Parts: sequence; structure tokens; C-alpha cells
Amino acid sequence: MAYEIRTFGDPVLKAEAAAVTDINGKIARLVDDMFETLYDSDSGIALAAPQIGVQKQIVVWDIDDQPMALINPVVVESDGEFVYNEGCLSIPELYVDILRPNHVLVRGVDVDGNEIEIEGSELMGRMLQHEIDHLHGVLMFERMTPEQRKAAMAEYRKLQEQPAAKPQKRRLRLL
Ligand SMILES: [Zn+2]
Repeated sequence: MAYEIRTFGDPVLKAEAAAVTDINGKIARLVDDMFETLYDSDSGIALAAPQIGVQKQIVVWDIDDQPMALINPVVVESDGEFVYNEGCLSIPELYVDILRPNHVLVRGVDVDGNEIEIEGSELMGRMLQHEIDHLHGVLMFERMTPEQRKAAMAEYRKLQEQPAAKPQKRRLRLL
């Protein structure tokens, strides 16, 4: 079942998600629903459970036709710098060049309960950081410089006020 994607202003996006303690059939079903919601979305490549209103530490993504779900993910190492024109399914139509570490090493658990490590840089590294932020109630606004945030907030408000004048999507990779 595809869920509705929650958008900026919904308090669930600011809340801390709980770690998953028991990977059971319910979690497997939730992961399936997250993929369905992701594939139903317009241009999404990754989704965190809070984006569908579920306060659990689960993220799913599909990059280069390699779908993957990760439970209780934690960034254990990060280095480098990378600027990426970031967009979020929960903040429709807003894209901002955000500087974050380039490369990350993430530890988590897969849907079979195995501890795994995932490494990524550029898009993959950015996706992992963006999704893990969602699990802690952090949106990309908080990764902008104060000047960027001010401009982005104003732009987003404007986009919300003028739905008819929404520009065409420039990016096809929403996080
Ligand atoms: Zn997002």
C-alpha cells in the first residue's frame, strides 16, 4: 500500500524516529509499502519512514536499479566535501546547492537482520546523509548556511502560495 508523503510543516518530520528492535513481518510489510510509495512518487530515489508518518528508523532507496532497505542506520565515518543540488520529497519543488561531507560509511541492519556496512560518495553519500537526517527530525534546511536557509524558506513559501506557477522539475532525484 502506498502512503501519502508528508510535507514540510508536518510535525512528524521534526520528530526523532525510534530504533527498530524486532525485525518481523510487520517491518517487512512496512518496507514493501515504503518501496511502493517511493515508486509511486514523482522522481523519488529514496525515502525515510518518517516521510510517510512512521516514526521508525528505516530508509529505502533505489539507485541504479539496486533497491535496498536499511534499518537503524548510523553514520560512523564521513570525510571530504561535496556540493549537491539537493531536493526532498517532503519539500516539493525546492532545490538548493548544499555542502556536506562527500563520503560516508554507514552501519545498519538489513531486512534479514544482518548487520551491514554501506559506503557511498557523491549521490550515494548524499542520499545516505539526507535519509539518516530524516530519522532524527532533521530537514535539509538545517544543513544550509543561514543565508541559504532564509532564501530557501522565502522561495518555498512563494512556491506554496502560487501552486499554478510551479516551475517544471529540474531534478529527477528526490530524497
Ligand atoms: Zn528528504
